[in-house]
Amino acid sequence: MMFPLPPNATIGLVGGGQLGRMSALAAARLGYRCHILTREQNSPAGQVSAAVTISDYLDPVALRAFAAAVDVISFEFENVSAEGLDLLASLKPVRPAPGILRISQDRVAEKSFVNGVGVPTAPWRAVGTLDELRAAAAELGLPAVLKTTREGYDGKGQRTLHQPDELAAAFADLSPKPLILEGFVDFAQEISVVIARGADGSLSAFDAVENRHRNHILDLTLAPARVPDSVVEQSQAIARTVATALDLVGLLAVEMFVDADGQVLVNEIAPRPHNSGHWTIDACPASQFELHIRAIADLPLPAATRHSDAVMKNLVGPDEIALWPAILATPGLIPHLYGKSDARPGRKMGHVTRLFPKGSLPGEFGVEAALGPAAPRRTGEHFSPSP
Ligand code: AMP
Repeated sequence: MMFPLPPNATIGLVGGGQLGRMSALAAARLGYRCHILTREQNSPAGQVSAAVTISDYLDPVALRAFAAAVDVISFEFENVSAEGLDLLASLKPVRPAPGILRISQDRVAEKSFVNGVGVPTAPWRAVGTLDELRAAAAELGLPAVLKTTREGYDGKGQRTLHQPDELAAAFADLSPKPLILEGFVDFAQEISVVIARGADGSLSAFDAVENRHRNHILDLTLAPARVPDSVVEQSQAIARTVATALDLVGLLAVEMFVDADGQVLVNEIAPRPHNSGHWTIDACPASQFELHIRAIADLPLPAATRHSDAVMKNLVGPDEIALWPAILATPGLIPHLYGKSDARPGRKMGHVTRLFPKGSLPGEFGVEAALGPAAPRRTGEHFSPSP
C-alpha cells in the first residue's frame, strides 16, 4: 500500500469500543473504510464500520486474515497484546508502532521512558516483594499510590496507602502482579494534551484541557484548562517531547498533574484517541479522531485549533444514561451515544458536549448550569476548590 492512503482504502482498527467507533466515523468522512478486530459481537465500532472480525487478539489465523484484508492497522484499545501487534506489523504497517504500545502498557517502562527524555513524573519505585514495598515507602514517604504496572485503568488495580500498617494488605491484594509505588501528588489540577504526529515528524497538539474524575472515571473535561500560561507551555512542550522521542506516527494523549507549585508531572501516556479529547469533535475543525486517521494515513495534519470552548460530560452507567431523553430535549447539548446495549455501572455509554464562544468558558457554576440535566450530581467532589 502506498502512502498517503488513497480514498476507499481500508483501515484496520484493533478494538471495538467507542474510541474505535468515533475513529471509524472520522475515517468514513475522509473516504476510508474501517475493518474492526474485536472480541465483541455488535461492538460500538463494528456497528459503524464496513467489516468486522470477531476474534481473540492473539489468534494467529484471525490476525493474518485481518491483516490481509486491510491497508494499514491502528488500535483504540490498549490492553491488546503487543505480541499480536508484532505479528500484524510483520504483515502490514501498524501505526503507532507496537513498541510504543509496549511502553504505554507498562507503568515502569512508561515512567522510565518519560523520565529518560527529561520529563518529570511523580517519584516512583518498581516493587516486586513486600520488603521492596516497605523500602520504597520509606524512601518516597506516605501517602503513596501502589499500582499494578499493567492493565490498570479507571482506578482499577491501585491502592492509596496512608499508614505503614496498610502496606502488607495492599501488597497481598495486588500481588503477584508486578507493582509500582508512586509518591502521592497533591495535585491542584489534572490536565491532558492530545497530540498528533505525522510520519514526516510534523506535530499538531490540541490545547491542554482540565479533567475531573468521579469514582476514578473521567467525568468532566473543560476545554481549555484554566491554568497559567506557564502550565500551558510546559504541558505542550512535554507532549511534543514525548511524541517526538517515541517517533510516534498517530495520536498520543498525555495525562498530567499540575502540582501546587505549578509544576507539570506526567501521570500516563496513551498512544490512541482519549476520552479527554472527545470535545474536539464539536469544538474543532478537525477532531482528535480526524487527526488520528490523518496521521496514520499520511494525510496533511491541520493545526489542532479550536473554534469554541467546550465542556464534555461523560454519561456513565445506568443512572446517567437514564438522563438521555432529557439531554435530547435540552437545546445546546450535543449528544453522543456509543451503541452499547448493556448499561452496567461504571460503563461509559455516551457523552454530551456544550460549546461556548472561544474565550468565554464559564466558571464552575456556569458550567454546571450549562449542562442542564447532564450536570454532575453535586457530591462536593467537583466543585471543591482543589480536587
Ligand atoms: P491512573 O490509573 O494512573 O490514571 O490513576 C487514576 C487516578 O488516580 C488519577 O487520575 C489521579 O486522580 C489518581 N492518581 C493516580 N496516581 C496518583 C498519584 N501518584 N498521586 C495522586 N493521585 C494519583
